Amino acid sequence: MGSVNDHMQPMSATGINMLIVGAGIGGLSLAIEAHRKGHTVRIIEKRAELSALGDTIALESSAIRTMLRSWPGFAERAAAVCIDPGYNFYAENGDYLGTYSMGDPDLPPILAHRIEYHHLLYDYLRELGIEVELGKACADYFEEEGYGGVVLEGGIKITADVVVAADGVGSSSWKLVVGKPVNAVPSGFAIYRCNFPLGPALESSSMLRDRYGQYKTRFEFFLAPHGVLVFSLTPRRMSFMLGHPASLTSSEKWAGTVDKAECLPFVKGWDPICTEIINAAPPDSIIDWNLVWRDPQENWVSPKGRIVQIGDASHPFLPSAGYGGTQAQEDSMSLPECLRQAGKVNIPLALRVHNKLRFERVACCQRLGFMNRELILNVRRQGSLENLAMIHGDWLYKHDPEKYAEEEFQECASSILMGTPYKVKNSVPGYEYEPWTVEGLMDLAERGVDLEKIVGGTWRTSKQRQP
Ligand SMILES: Cc1cc2nc3c(=O)[nH]c(=O)nc-3n(C[C@H](O)[C@H](O)[C@H](O)COP(=O)(O)OP(=O)(O)OC[C@H]3O[C@@H](n4cnc5c(N)ncnc54)[C@H](O)[C@@H]3O)c2cc1C
Repeated sequence: MGSVNDHMQPMSATGINMLIVGAGIGGLSLAIEAHRKGHTVRIIEKRAELSALGDTIALESSAIRTMLRSWPGFAERAAAVCIDPGYNFYAENGDYLGTYSMGDPDLPPILAHRIEYHHLLYDYLRELGIEVELGKACADYFEEEGYGGVVLEGGIKITADVVVAADGVGSSSWKLVVGKPVNAVPSGFAIYRCNFPLGPALESSSMLRDRYGQYKTRFEFFLAPHGVLVFSLTPRRMSFMLGHPASLTSSEKWAGTVDKAECLPFVKGWDPICTEIINAAPPDSIIDWNLVWRDPQENWVSPKGRIVQIGDASHPFLPSAGYGGTQAQEDSMSLPECLRQAGKVNIPLALRVHNKLRFERVACCQRLGFMNRELILNVRRQGSLENLAMIHGDWLYKHDPEKYAEEEFQECASSILMGTPYKVKNSVPGYEYEPWTVEGLMDLAERGVDLEKIVGGTWRTSKQRQP
């Protein structure tokens, strides 16, 4: 495979230097796209090496359009890590319920083990000559007129024209950007998350070999009224997620592992393959991730306009929503274009335009995640796929965040400068955004209200990917 550096031609230099904090999915994809757009990129990451924890991640068509169109060699590399995005559903006793295919009928999503996709982005960036500065943890953010900066643990300061907080759920940027902690509402559930090499697992279990030896890739759901096991397989790795009631030790940290003995009671009496999957996990590979909802947070930009949050730092999603990676990457395609349009002299305006172009769409995706979760819960209760008509629409899949930023920048910038309203065009057609809270939606769901019926606008379109 040739080096991507031979082919990716960055646009003319903008003179804007950017510091990205966090080399997760959002930070790495932003670094590559910002380089392509002619900005100078520096990226720091608190971990000393890439984490081996995680399970599967989905990147929908809207998140990968620019990458497939403009990143040389990306399509081939992505194809090598992709899992077939057919969702195979089983009841917990092993009865086959059916297969449901997700995503854009015209451009299927990248569904991958997060670790493999993460390495893909990391290698791609390095081949562009940009090294992630590992082992540098940001302790705090600050800004002055004309620049932003971070204080690293240990006290060293780094400054840049623009600082991007891509440091995930626990970002310390909220102090400067939001001013108060963002309301986090426990869902009462947690998931065990795990991935491990395929070879040893198949070698040590004839049950796994008999069932999965035939597949190159596989994605399966085992649905029970009180839990769900999601399993996936690539030619190199296996992973699982096991939903369960949260315990006192469940946390929102990608660190600290639990023993598989803790997981096994939750699949007792299920299809024996579920126990076998969990038993295949090597030591220190399972984390217990607490599922926490957060209300939409409208402002992602610091007061002086030098710090901007992207991805989970500004809008975390539950894994059941499936849009966390997608929305992080959409941010990464929008922000570099806004900076390019605005130029070095107008960086604060660029960040505010990016925020405005993105917020309502992201809030709709957060709400959609909640609505789709209710549908999946109903399927579990009814034990039938008949009513699994997940809500998806063209507004979600056909969007192109880079092109949208290119086409809308001037109109949106003018409205911000003149203080006039700007109407977004990348959200749910016919839906007038109204602020909502997680607690409000939970209350409605508990009272049995159909969340789709009470909200205006066309959230679903008929043309959807079929099995
Ligand atoms: C180890 C790990 C495994 C994950 N596995 C899955 C998965 O299997 N499925 C899934 O759907 N989602 C997973 N996620 C979350 C998913 O990647 C995000 O929800 C989504 O992709 C949005 O990406 P992000 O870049 O905003 O956040 P993340 O991908 O979480 O990246 C944030 C990055 O910032 C770094 N960071 C945090 N604090 C600091 C600091 N103070 N200074 C410098 N760097 C910092 C983190 O180490 C991390 O690399 C995982 C995240 C992590 C960190």
